[in-house]
Amino acid sequence: MQNETVDLGAFWMPFTANKAFKQAPRQFGSAEGMHYYTPEGRPVLDGTAGLWCVNAGHGRTTIVDAIAHQAATLDYAPTFQLGHPKVFELATRLADLFPGDINKVFFAGSGSEAVDTALKIALAYHRANGQPERTRFIGRQRGYHGVGFGGISVGGLENNRRGFTLLPGVDHLSHTHSLEHSAFTRGQPEWGAHLADELEELIALRGAETIAAVIVEPLAGSTGVLVPPVGYLKRLREISERHGVLLIFDEVITAFGRLGAATAAELFDVTPDMIVCAKALTNGAVPMGAVGVRDFVHDTIVNASEGGIEFFHGYTYSGHPLAAAAGLATLDIYADEGLFERAAGLAPLWQEQVHGLGNLPHVVDIRNLGLVAGIEMSARPGAPGARGTEVFHTCFDQGVLVRVTGDTIALSPPLTVSPDQIAQMLDCLSEAIHQTN
Ligand code: PLP
Repeated sequence: MQNETVDLGAFWMPFTANKAFKQAPRQFGSAEGMHYYTPEGRPVLDGTAGLWCVNAGHGRTTIVDAIAHQAATLDYAPTFQLGHPKVFELATRLADLFPGDINKVFFAGSGSEAVDTALKIALAYHRANGQPERTRFIGRQRGYHGVGFGGISVGGLENNRRGFTLLPGVDHLSHTHSLEHSAFTRGQPEWGAHLADELEELIALRGAETIAAVIVEPLAGSTGVLVPPVGYLKRLREISERHGVLLIFDEVITAFGRLGAATAAELFDVTPDMIVCAKALTNGAVPMGAVGVRDFVHDTIVNASEGGIEFFHGYTYSGHPLAAAAGLATLDIYADEGLFERAAGLAPLWQEQVHGLGNLPHVVDIRNLGLVAGIEMSARPGAPGARGTEVFHTCFDQGVLVRVTGDTIALSPPLTVSPDQIAQMLDCLSEAIHQTN
């Protein structure tokens, strides 16, 4: 369908400058492999896996077939007091994928729902464990945990919080981004593990007996790609465990190969008490979120109940049959094609090439890990975000999709990307940065 035939008025677009978009709309009509196509048929190389979700590339036939077959066989089934085979199968497959004794899976419809689910599980666990006064949460500055009231409360992005009612009793750790100490680091910065000690300080301040959980993204994506310092996550684990505080990893963007391993938890050899995931779980094809939970957390809640419903929480679309079918087909592709290993194999080339942009005008930092990169530009005086938006638009017009957060360009291509496509992506980005003033 051509742009001019579609009325753009009614759709209130999320996280979008609606007025600006509707004056100069950019749309996709189809997608296949590594490319989107505009409604007019112009290819746009996908440098962002959609929104960090299409890790296996677009239009994967086995996923499409699985969804179609499922829709024709069992379009919808509730999972309240009922079930269907595929959701149990997917939970088992995820439990196999998650590290350690993360063997239980609660499904949700999105990352935001999964985050709020994890926070509620933390509260339910402490209540069942005889410590109902453990109700406080600790998040981190510049953290993004979706847009539910729980997620924005533990999140640390001011624009997402301002003007909204927030959960009480939430503290934030400092973020780990430092141009002074870590600019242009390849991979994990050496500086910054000490920032995890703030958790110890907050626990001392508030009392361990009041704190339910700490939640962090192992690698913060939406806030502009913040790579965890060497040793930082291990230290968070050690401190949280010592004080009986649950550790939640929000792996909505890091799970399923993005960093070259099934999860960031596996990559960093840190087993949290819960892993939140979504996005690439179904290759983005059907909305789905999930929380992987360690046995003791689940068992404490379930065993504390004297019968009846143990956890008063769930969504109409928890474990939706189409999402479950898409998830199973997606996990098959990841395994059959070795995509996590592929990402790990490409990471050194990726690192080499993205750091090749380091001498461009305005560029003040480049960060990378796995198949993720953040290219941070200085803000134009008086116009923060303008440079980033301009680069995004130029790249789009030149046939490459990048993502912009403020003045940081984030890249996270499907794990199927080829070396030539990496070169094309970075050439285009380089040209766009050259063009911006
Ligand atoms: N958590 C993280 C780390 C995310 O990156 C996102 C989305 O980008 C979310 C949670 C929210 O997921 P959703 O947009 O599916 O609600």
